[in-house]
Amino acid sequence: MEQQKFSSLPDWKFEFSKPLIISGPCGVESEKQVHEIAAELSKLNVHLLRGGIWKPRSRPDSFQGIGSEGLKWLKDAGRKNNIPVMVEVANPKHVEEALKEQIDVLWIGARTTVNPFLVQEIAEALGGINIPVMIKNPINPELELWIGAIERISKTGIRRIAAIHRGFSTFEKTKYRNVPNWQIPIELKRRMPELPLICDPSHICGTRNLIASVAQTAMDLNYDGLMIESHAHPEQALSDSQQQLTPAALKYLLDHLVVRSSVVEDVIFMNLLEELRDKIDKLDEDILNKISNRMEIAREIGKYKKENNITILQVERWNEILRTRLQFGLDHELTREFILKMYELIHDESILQQTQMMNSETLDLKNTSTKY
Ligand code: PEP
Ligand code: MN
Repeated sequence: MEQQKFSSLPDWKFEFSKPLIISGPCGVESEKQVHEIAAELSKLNVHLLRGGIWKPRSRPDSFQGIGSEGLKWLKDAGRKNNIPVMVEVANPKHVEEALKEQIDVLWIGARTTVNPFLVQEIAEALGGINIPVMIKNPINPELELWIGAIERISKTGIRRIAAIHRGFSTFEKTKYRNVPNWQIPIELKRRMPELPLICDPSHICGTRNLIASVAQTAMDLNYDGLMIESHAHPEQALSDSQQQLTPAALKYLLDHLVVRSSVVEDVIFMNLLEELRDKIDKLDEDILNKISNRMEIAREIGKYKKENNITILQVERWNEILRTRLQFGLDHELTREFILKMYELIHDESILQQTQMMNSETLDLKNTSTKY
């Protein structure tokens, strides 16, 4: 895939440093509300003031956002307190209005990233205009859709692009509103290393009490910044009231955030790290060798099953494997979820290898008559 070129955050000309902190209400509700929160946030190290003007709500009777008149309130609150402002755009009309009001940064929401038609329309509305754009992950866990949206915006010539990880929707109820699926943003970072990556713990968590730990995980994973919803009176918020922090809570969170370095300068520590990484490399080789041996034996069993004409899947045997391996793994401080996931993968691969072995001489139907 073609390598994208993205500006790093310090080059965005807003005096952004790492971690970039974006905060503000889920939705702009009134002039008073947005001025109150902006004044509070200006006392913290907040780089960007966010505020939803048009809210993509699931149900038509919930608060749909204050609409265009809120753009001016947000901008004035930002200018007065010296914080650049940021809004969500979901169609070309939003882009046009936000640009007219001189909003500093735009973001594309999760419900828009899923729709390539809309992202393309937004990209065309932006054509030639040099405004920073942040792109949230799509609500479904599909990396290509996220990358596709980033590419569509990037093709307009915009270089100040960042990705926002806000978690993924699931049918099952979990402790998160949107499960983080950390491997997806990590893979995005691997594929687009220059792209700044921001975490939105508010929409991942859905409740205040989980936000600090998700924010810390993002810092531990070397994210470039955080987007955290805040409101002077969260209990009165017209949307997402459960997940908005008071300025005091946000200050507490930021004061306790441990920001780690991704570069190692201490020589003794560097040597130790090298040594440990060598050990990991060796263990990984052992693991892959052992798995390869295991598959070889699985194929051999497949051969006997074929000769004796018995089915590949033997449910009692599979249950026995799961039971004993789970116990062994738990005794060795591995988590239940990890052992089950790993054995499902190993078992699927064994079944696949045995199926291939059994069906090495499949019927050739090419020359059979269509009558049959
Ligand atoms: C928001 O940031 O308020 C929002 C609607 O987010 P998302 O697109 O992540 O749901
Ligand atoms: Mn919200």
